[in-house]
Amino acid sequence: MSSTLSVAATRRPAAWHLCLAAAPVVIALYYWLVSLGGAWAGTQVALYASANVTLTACCLVAARRHRPLRLPLLLVAGSGVLSAAADLIFYFLALVQGEVAYPSIADLGYLGAYPLMAVGLLVVVRRRTPGWDGASGIDAAIVAVSAGYLIYEVVIAPTMSVTTGNVTTLVSVAYPVGDLMLIMVGARLMLGAGPRTAALRMLGGYLGLVLVADTMYSIQSLNGTYQAGNYLDTLWMGGSFLLAAGVLHPSARRLVAPSCVVTPDATPARLAVLALAAVLAPATMVIQHLRTGEPHVAVAGLVCTVLFVLVLGRMAGLVRAQRNAAIIDGLTGLRSRRYFEESLRAEAARSARSGADLGMLLLDVDHFKRVNDTYGHHGGDRVLVEVAHRISQLVRPGDLVARYGGEEFAILLPATDPEQARVIAERVRGGMAAAPVAVGDTRLHRLTVSVGVAGLHAAGDEADQLVLAADRALYAAKNAGRDRVAGPADVEAVPVS
Ligand code: GH3
Ligand code: MG
Ligand code: MG
Repeated sequence: MSSTLSVAATRRPAAWHLCLAAAPVVIALYYWLVSLGGAWAGTQVALYASANVTLTACCLVAARRHRPLRLPLLLVAGSGVLSAAADLIFYFLALVQGEVAYPSIADLGYLGAYPLMAVGLLVVVRRRTPGWDGASGIDAAIVAVSAGYLIYEVVIAPTMSVTTGNVTTLVSVAYPVGDLMLIMVGARLMLGAGPRTAALRMLGGYLGLVLVADTMYSIQSLNGTYQAGNYLDTLWMGGSFLLAAGVLHPSARRLVAPSCVVTPDATPARLAVLALAAVLAPATMVIQHLRTGEPHVAVAGLVCTVLFVLVLGRMAGLVRAQRNAAIIDGLTGLRSRRYFEESLRAEAARSARSGADLGMLLLDVDHFKRVNDTYGHHGGDRVLVEVAHRISQLVRPGDLVARYGGEEFAILLPATDPEQARVIAERVRGGMAAAPVAVGDTRLHRLTVSVGVAGLHAAGDEADQLVLAADRALYAAKNAGRDRVAGPADVEAVPVS
């Protein structure tokens, strides 16, 4: 009996499925009523507004389910309420007055919906990426500047040249500006770090449909070809149903899951988007020049300059990220082995020339396999981060600390003789053993390290000889029982086979 019930429960269509299934039915009914030529105008209006009403209702339901999503969902619900109210007012005015004056009070509702939606999306962006995701910000700016220029050329400039009266111009320009706001936040959301869930894709689909519909509407209005009830209503209504399904989708919860910010890879898809965005402005200018001979040179020049600076900024970020990846250890934030070896060669050559001292410590965590076995690999990683932090605190500012291997660390000590190097090695060893390391929130682990000490001139004047001497000393420290420091003298006592 219970298994039959659970099968029935899993087979029941989810609410988001219902939203997607309702869309074509409602839209088809709506167009059927449109084709009847206004005989059922009231029902037709109700059907049209039902898309935004559904969106609002779904947002309210989802806001009860997912606490962290509550604020953005309430903002999107607010935008749905304003849009639905505007739909009703628009058609009510059309029914009563025959023709709706432009701008009308309905425009207030439509325009008010933009900032609510944009702020809602911005809250999602902030919660997904609490860190400063500058690279995605630049990518979004490149897309927004290009799209903004296109919207300016196709919609804003022609609108400003034909509309009369300050308020009419203001309202007409406010729509594309609202779209631009959505493009900016939407691009940042879609290009930023975080899981690419079904809910996110549906949100992206909603933005795409609405932006295309809005732009087509503006173009048709300018051309005088717009007719209420044409195909654009499919895009607006479909978009609202799609977003309604998205907020009810199980993956909506993860829309605000915080992500660690890393410089996004230059994937082919991302590069294609950025390349398209970057060439859009100059290409538009060329087309305009060929068609009319009078491109808006000042605006296009400004846009190209801004794009150029943004692309350069993005490239600089990529170069910096690449360089950091080579010289910084990803787990501990210490210098990498590669950086250490390059610095060692340079320091060794300088010290060999000048006769100055150069010390080196090689440190290995004792019985680290046990840490991994007891707390898992992630626990082991946390311990390594803490070890790295402690070493950095225990050496002097000019000393170079690097992660040399898995749980091995190397420290380069410029202008340090072997005796001083041994003192520093003892300080590091003692500091590690002095207090247990936190693994997780409550558990502590007592950790010891073994340290090999070597000095340049005693070991030979080559960098490789210094490393070999430190390695031998470390081996001696391990052999002597661990949790200790060993130098060249100890190596002789324990010959290496
Ligand atoms: P001892 O040095 O005292 O001889 O014993 P040990 O248990 O530390 O032995 P060894 O140095 O040979 O083993 C090091 C272990 O460190 C083996 C490997 O699984 C682990 N390890 C290496 N790199 C990482 C890492 O990045 N993260 C974690 N969690 N473990 C690592
Ligand atoms: Mg080791
Ligand atoms: Mg070890």
